[in-house]
Amino acid sequence: MSRASETVPEHVEIAVVGGGPVGALAALRLAQAGRKVVLIEARDPAAKLADARAIALSWASLAAFAEAGVMVPEAALTAIDTVHVSQQGSWGRTVLSRDDLDLPRLGAVLDYPALAEACQQALADAGVTVLWRTRVTEVAALTAFARLTLSRDGKASPLTCRLAVLADGGELAEQLLGVIRRVHDYQQSALLAELRTERPHDGVAYERFSRRGPLALLPHGDAFKLVWTRSPDEAQALRDAPPEVLIAQLDEALAGRFGQILSVTGRAVFPLTLKQVNRTVSDRVALIGNAAQTMHPVAAQGLNLGVRDALGLVEAVAASADPGEAGVLRRYAELRRLDSRAVVGFTHSLVSLFDGNGTAVSLLRGLGMNLLDIVPPARRRFAGHLVFGVGTAR
Ligand SMILES: Cc1cc2nc3c(=O)[nH]c(=O)nc-3n(C[C@H](O)[C@H](O)[C@H](O)COP(=O)(O)OP(=O)(O)OC[C@H]3O[C@@H](n4cnc5c(N)ncnc54)[C@H](O)[C@@H]3O)c2cc1C
Repeated sequence: MSRASETVPEHVEIAVVGGGPVGALAALRLAQAGRKVVLIEARDPAAKLADARAIALSWASLAAFAEAGVMVPEAALTAIDTVHVSQQGSWGRTVLSRDDLDLPRLGAVLDYPALAEACQQALADAGVTVLWRTRVTEVAALTAFARLTLSRDGKASPLTCRLAVLADGGELAEQLLGVIRRVHDYQQSALLAELRTERPHDGVAYERFSRRGPLALLPHGDAFKLVWTRSPDEAQALRDAPPEVLIAQLDEALAGRFGQILSVTGRAVFPLTLKQVNRTVSDRVALIGNAAQTMHPVAAQGLNLGVRDALGLVEAVAASADPGEAGVLRRYAELRRLDSRAVVGFTHSLVSLFDGNGTAVSLLRGLGMNLLDIVPPARRRFAGHLVFGVGTAR
């Protein structure tokens, strides 16, 4: 496993800021392409990562991590073979299956800490320099290079690079000239929990538009991981309530589909916002992953989109001797524009459209779901967008 490196270099070709899954993937793939990369991560690698998120990764995202050397043990993955979309109290449903895309699986669910650990191991195996326990406090984009200010153990030091890749989740972007971060607060929170049910999941991920808010049930080992979008007050109350209270609401929303709910454990709450920047590049700086767009988790697309950002950046850099030159950054922004807009727009419209419980809204979404279900080419196309992205080469 990697340890905190002792020396902070003064100059590198590419500095990746943030060693979350997207930053780690970018650093690995850039290093594989022969670039001199340093990854800077605020976290202590020895500290246990407490994060209750279970992530649904598409088949294409899992393949991208594997190609970068990120080996998640098979035991930590739960396959998704089918995605079942329905709504409470009304007609309309869509079932997407691995057969629609002729794939061995549509994707898999894994815990965020398991992915972080596999990334950490891959970085160590590949010999990528990681400055752990080091926070970037300032970023400035200049014509010939970008300048970062690093802080570790209370000591500040400068680092210059040809290209700075911000994969920090989004706090640093606004220091860049001309970059504005728009924030849309959904006034919603995600309630997370693990459910054990009488009937097994059989590799099916459920998306259900319940009257109380959209809920996702992801297959996770022999249980389900619940992500239920609720008002912040309801989510907090359900996190702290006796389990029977949550089970009663789930029974109502799921209409007994999985038999009895035997237990709910590991409850946690995440506030939900949409954060988007007006541009994903500035002089000598590129934004990827949540730093470029932070989305509502209703469609489980945030990290999948971030993975494609990382791959897009590697592709844009490939042809150039200088990875931070204006042409590379323009190419990166162009490569990622359509996919990012489409996925962010789709997710946002899901939240808005499925927020309503009126008859008209319910009929409209029922119609949309049924149309997808009965028109195989439309269904296959939709499934393809979810697994591979929009406008990306397959
Ligand atoms: C409840 C929930 C469920 C989700 N489910 C899914 C899902 O099923 N599928 C999916 O695709 N997505 C999902 N997402 C979204 C997904 O979690 C994010 O899109 C993904 O984690 C983004 O990865 P990232 O590497 O860009 O950022 P992060 O995971 O936020 O990592 C950023 C890293 O940067 C480091 N850092 C931050 N600031 C600095 C700094 N100044 N200097 C140095 N290091 C710094 C942090 O320590 C962190 O390690 C979900 C999100 C939530 C909230």
